[in-house]
Amino acid sequence: MRTIKLLATLQQIDLELDADRRKFAENKEAMTPPEGLKKLLAQVKAAENEVTRWQKERKLREEAVALQQAKIKEEEARLYSGRIKDPREQVAVQQHVESLKRHLETLEERALEALMELEKSQATLTQLRQTFEAQKATWMTRREALEKEQEAIVAHARRLKAKRETITKQLPAADLSQYEAMRKKLGGLAVVKLNGRSCGGCGASLPTSVVQQVQAGEMTKCPICGRLLS
Ligand SMILES: [Zn+2]
Repeated sequence: MRTIKLLATLQQIDLELDADRRKFAENKEAMTPPEGLKKLLAQVKAAENEVTRWQKERKLREEAVALQQAKIKEEEARLYSGRIKDPREQVAVQQHVESLKRHLETLEERALEALMELEKSQATLTQLRQTFEAQKATWMTRREALEKEQEAIVAHARRLKAKRETITKQLPAADLSQYEAMRKKLGGLAVVKLNGRSCGGCGASLPTSVVQQVQAGEMTKCPICGRLLS
């Protein structure tokens, strides 16, 4: 095969390999967990802490209610035991019981408030968990698809590299190194097709003599961009 044909095939393979590399990097980027999911997980953790906080708070407040009830019971028992003879002391104990009862109301309100806050935080947690699980499932499906795509890209690139090797083995070393240098310098595009009478690389309109050389299969460069024409 003529050198220019080999180089044109090599260029085709390299363009495909470039595309594979780009797609692989793009997929890799897309495989990191999305910010939204990370944020949601942080919200779930915060909601879990909130539930724990209200569970503890509720327990404490209910204990306070129980303690107050015990105190009232004790004072009432003393009051109705008949042991207090002094009427002024009886009034004082009675007033104490009433004040204990008033405070009990406050304590009961606080215990109820804790129960309501606990229920509210549990509902928030349930909702956040559901949203998180749904979004996680969507992302996992997407990631699995990306993983399969990555495997296919790797396999494709492996086949291309094997093909590339059979081509490079047939190429004179000087032509190969010239090609590599041109690819580096010319944005990955060293060999371009003739597009009618124009250069397929820069689009310049080519003189008839150049077109004829290309058609005859000679190594010809575009006088404008310097790429090889095939
Ligand atoms: Zn050109």
